[in-house]
Amino acid sequence: MRVGCPKEIKNHEYRVGLTPGAVREYVAHGHQVIIQSGAGTGIGADDGAYQAAGAKVVKTAEEVFQQSDMIVKVKEPQPSEWSQLREGHLLYTYLHLAPDPEQTKGLLSSGVTAIAYETVTDERGGLPLLAPMSEVAGRLAIQAGATALQKANGGRGILLGGVPGVLPGKVTIIGGGVVGINAAQMAAGLGADVTILDRSIPRLRQLDDLFRGRIHTRYSTIEALDEEVFSADIVVGAVLIPGAAAPKLVTREMLSGMKKGAVIVDVAIDQGGCFETSHATTHSEPTYEVDGVIHYCVANMPGAVPVTSAHALNNATLQYGLQLADRGVKALIDNPHLRNGLNVHKGRITNSAVAEALGLEM
Ligand code: NAD
Repeated sequence: MRVGCPKEIKNHEYRVGLTPGAVREYVAHGHQVIIQSGAGTGIGADDGAYQAAGAKVVKTAEEVFQQSDMIVKVKEPQPSEWSQLREGHLLYTYLHLAPDPEQTKGLLSSGVTAIAYETVTDERGGLPLLAPMSEVAGRLAIQAGATALQKANGGRGILLGGVPGVLPGKVTIIGGGVVGINAAQMAAGLGADVTILDRSIPRLRQLDDLFRGRIHTRYSTIEALDEEVFSADIVVGAVLIPGAAAPKLVTREMLSGMKKGAVIVDVAIDQGGCFETSHATTHSEPTYEVDGVIHYCVANMPGAVPVTSAHALNNATLQYGLQLADRGVKALIDNPHLRNGLNVHKGRITNSAVAEALGLEM
């Protein structure tokens, strides 16, 4: 198959759908790979690296779309990309169609077969192509929180790990899923005093097993939340109720009970956030203050570290991408988990959750 990868054009998107390492794998499977010149600039991979991996480098996105059967990207296609998609194209990328009727219309009218990373599943019921970005965001949450906690950045002026003779900072993590576990690993690694709250007792058992006494776990009730949020230097919001907006677990009223200069990192902001006072921010202005509490609410946290993020994403997308390239749409029949990723086919929505969210027929 001819596998194409255009340069990402969404604002501040530096990741790339195919790293040179991934290109080598597609080429080893007998596929031709077509890369737009400059596609890897954001991760430090120049055209030469792609040529060395066996790709053909072309100047424009138009050439990529014209010459390819399968398009591999990172972000949802932008309007100038919808118009270049056609029936027979396999599109493999993040789509997030549910809140985006305009893009949905564009994809439906193009006739494309579109597989969304975010709805591909695995044997354990997980979302394997979302998980690597949650890993990145979880780990980054502590770096971002620790930086905001510094006095010059408006924070309390606390070093998370403390020093001999001085107590460490306290980190409260609400939600012990992929983001929460990765945040806890970083915070515990820095020497902070860490507590994770979750509503799932099996998950709390798993965390207890994993961290072997290094962190505290607590069942998430209103009272537990009050106590853990009020005593924290950093609170990380990492809850997810699949398919729903994040619940507002920390109200504006609760901020008055928090320490002045404490930091909120609302990773769940892409689902609306779990703090009443959260609103999405960007990497150029990541924080703001409400009632003396610093808020960090960047909706695309992995964008801060595109090199790590692009490699983590490619590691996860490669095996499914190769199945698509090797067998075309037949791969969707053979692999039910990959089929769960199918969102659009020949002018129809093929994912029930997406169809329901958009009020469209399947
Ligand atoms: P996950 O499903 O692995 O974990 C979510 C956890 O929240 C689960 O363990 C669940 O039991 C728990 N939970 C649900 N309701 C709760 C409640 N009331 N109290 C306490 N815990 C509760 O999800 P994840 O992959 O860790 O993602 C978490 C959030 O981070 C999602 O909203 C995701 O979209 C977001 N995210 C944001 C970015 C970003 O750049 N901002 C990047 C990646 C992920």
